This record gives sequence, structure tokens and C-alpha cells, in this order.
Amino acid sequence: MDERRDQSTERGPGRSTGRGTGRGADRGAGRDVELVLRSTRVVTPGAVRPATVAVTRGRIGGVLPYDEPPPPGAAVEDLGDDVLLPGLVDTHVHVNDPGRSAWEGFPAATRAAAAGGVTTLLDMPLNSLPPTTTVPGLHAKRAAARSRVHTDVGFWGGALPTNVADLGPLHEAGVFGFKSFLSPSGVEEFPHLDRAALDTVAREVAGLGALLIVHAEDPGHLERAPRCGGPRYADFLASRPRAAENEAVGALLAAARRHGTRVHVLHLSSAEALPALAAARADGVRVTVETCPHFLTLTAEEVPDGATEFKCCPPIREAANQDALWAGLAEGTIDCIVSDHSPCTADLKDGDFGTAWGGISSLQLGLSAVWTAARRRGHALHDVARWMSTAPAALAGLDRKGAIAPGHDADFAVLAPDETFTVDPAALHHRNPVTAYAGRTLHGVVRSTWLRGRKIADRGAVSPEPTGRLLERT
Ligand SMILES: [Zn+2]
Repeated sequence: MDERRDQSTERGPGRSTGRGTGRGADRGAGRDVELVLRSTRVVTPGAVRPATVAVTRGRIGGVLPYDEPPPPGAAVEDLGDDVLLPGLVDTHVHVNDPGRSAWEGFPAATRAAAAGGVTTLLDMPLNSLPPTTTVPGLHAKRAAARSRVHTDVGFWGGALPTNVADLGPLHEAGVFGFKSFLSPSGVEEFPHLDRAALDTVAREVAGLGALLIVHAEDPGHLERAPRCGGPRYADFLASRPRAAENEAVGALLAAARRHGTRVHVLHLSSAEALPALAAARADGVRVTVETCPHFLTLTAEEVPDGATEFKCCPPIREAANQDALWAGLAEGTIDCIVSDHSPCTADLKDGDFGTAWGGISSLQLGLSAVWTAARRRGHALHDVARWMSTAPAALAGLDRKGAIAPGHDADFAVLAPDETFTVDPAALHHRNPVTAYAGRTLHGVVRSTWLRGRKIADRGAVSPEPTGRLLERT
């Protein structure tokens, strides 16, 4: 089937090939309003303010005064003092479908996302079989996702030492960019780039005008570090030193400089890399940076021995490093907070940090986890919206996502920011009840989630109808 004609596939940031588009684009917003959401706290790009948000054909028609009477016939959702946020955009999710769907899969991943206030996710190209490193691999992903997703879903491609010729066709087919590893990925079907291959890929990606997103740890530093095995977290931490990240970030920046490539550092854990990143950006290198909820909310000091649900690569580091990551967010060197949700079956979290799967499950919990820490550090909800919705949307070029503003998709998360809940892994929509947040009390309860003006989750219950669309880059 031609993907371009597939009605469930949306070309670019919201250009729909589905029903209901193309009619009445010139009509006044007032007459066609199907829904208004009213809150005393609407997070808009300029301010948090009382407002009434009008939804027309799945898009935001206007952000109106709070007291604006709803047009006749429009449904009214009065949110009271609950906060209306733009739906979260999580650009770093490992769905592992097809091939390792026992680890998660599109239905469970997107239900968890919906319950957690995420309305768009981008799926990583590895851990599925096949990986998304060829156009047929991308088609296999789309076939696995089609008609099974509760949120919008797009796809990253993968750049390996061996598939440079596939990057152009993948770019044409609508992937949002290319992921590479600079150290072993953990799965043999997704080999990492050595320095020569990084140079080749960076040149090719720049030629395509595409984005290169990189797992930045240096294999030489990892090999020279003490080997890790057994249940002690301190041993695992010593096996993934900051220097490995700092070195790899430096190599990536050098490649970006040589070829003019637009690059993005995935899951930054080592705050020591921040000065080099800030300096490169000031120098005109096109680089953006993400970090993850676990690096901002959990610390090495508190990881119990044997608790391999806390294992991820790069690792959760010490409290002082976490403080510096928050400073990086505050000053803008770090752009995005995304989950790096990387689940697996419970048997792969075997209590030995040498052999356990590296990955933390948090898709449903990211907003609450980050908000819990952010509020304690004096940040506001509009900061969280910028880090978890606006900036990731901009990273992926999703210009109809990431803001409550006219013309954007009517994607929302409704949050009760002062309420708390205690994380019960068995109550999450994640397919496997393994998470580092088990038993934690978090601030911020997601009341409901809306996708193009439809309520897709309500107090944790997800609508059974999968109304998400598959997205392509424009
Ligand atoms: Zn990842």
C-alpha cells in the first residue's frame, strides 16, 4: 500500500490525509466550534492565564477570554482550577514493536502515554525486529502501529555503519531523523558508529538536511572503565564514567562542525558536558540536548543494590550532577525532557547490573515525576510545558504540536498539580510492571488527555478506540 495515500498516515506536522479536512477552512471559527475547554490556568506560549480554548475540527480555533460565552451547540468542558497544558510530545520512546512486543508494543505504549498526558510519541528505531534502518523496516513499523495507537506516533530512522545508502530513502519516506550509537547499543542488529562511520553519517545526514540524534558514550572509555557485574550500583556507575559521555559529545560536536550537521544529544546524564555544548551552540553549531526524568528525579545515592529497575545507559548519577542538570535546563543548554522509556520483561531485570537490560520505564509517569522535582526547585508549569511539549515538538519539526495556540492540534493534558499519588506499577498501562518509580509519591495527577479535541484518557482510564494517527516528517 502506498503510505502517502494511507488515510491513517498524516504527512508532516498535522497535514492530514484523513477525513474532515479541506472543508470550510475559510469559515469563521465561532460557528464551527465543537468544544470549548475552560480553565483558570491555561498554559499558553506567553503566559499561564484564565482562558477558554475553542476547538474546531480537532484544532485550536482560538484562545479566548475566560468569560467568553460558548457558541451555541459547542460542548463545554469546565476544568475549574485544573491546569490545561499542551499535550506532551515524547520524542524518545522504545516501543519495541514488531519483534519484541512482549517488552511493550504499540497498544500498551500509547495507552500509557495517553494516561500520562502524552499525545504524541516518536518511536526509536531499535529493539524492534526489524530495526527501522531500511524502508521495508519502516513499513513493518507502520504496519505494526496502524489502527492500534491511542496517541499520534512518528518514527525515527536508524543510521548504522552499513546503511548509509538507506538514509536518503528513509528520509524521503518520512522518518523524523536518524539515531546512531557511538558505543554498543545492547542489541547486535544495531551496531554503533566508530569515528570514521560517524564522519560518513554526519556528512550524509547534513546533505539530506536531516537531523542526527546520538547516544553519546565513548566505547574506549567504557572499555577502560572497571568491568561491572553483580548487584552493587556503585560498580555499575563506575563502569559508565562521565568521561565516556564527555568524550563522545566532543566527537559529535566536532563532526557537526565539520559537516554543518544538525545534531541532538540524547539522554544527557553527565552535566560535565554542558559547558562544551553551550560553547558549541554559541559558536553556531546546530546542537540541541535532551535529558530524562530519571536523571532529574532519581540519584545514584538512593539506588538500592540489586535494584536493576534503575539501570540505564548512561546511568543515573550523583545528586550534585543532578543539580547541575537542572541548572542546564534553567539556563537553556538543555532543551527537552523526554522519557527514554525503554521497557523489557521482568526476567531481564535480574538483579545483576552486569547482565540486566538497561532501560527505565516511565512513559506514563514522566509529567508527574518531573513536575514533582521542578516545583520543589522553584520552576513553574510553563517551564515543564516548554521542556516536555514545546521543545520536543520543535526538535521534530512538529509545528502543529507543542502549544496551546490557534492553528495547533487540540492536544491537551489536564493536570491537578497539587494532588499526589503513590506509584503502583501494577496499576500502570505499561505492559510490564517494572519501574524505578514504584512506591514513590508524586505530585501532579493527570485528570484527562485530549487528542485533536477528543478525550482519550479520563482519570487513568484510556478510551478503547485507538484514534491516534501515524505521522510523517514534512
Ligand atoms: Zn533510548
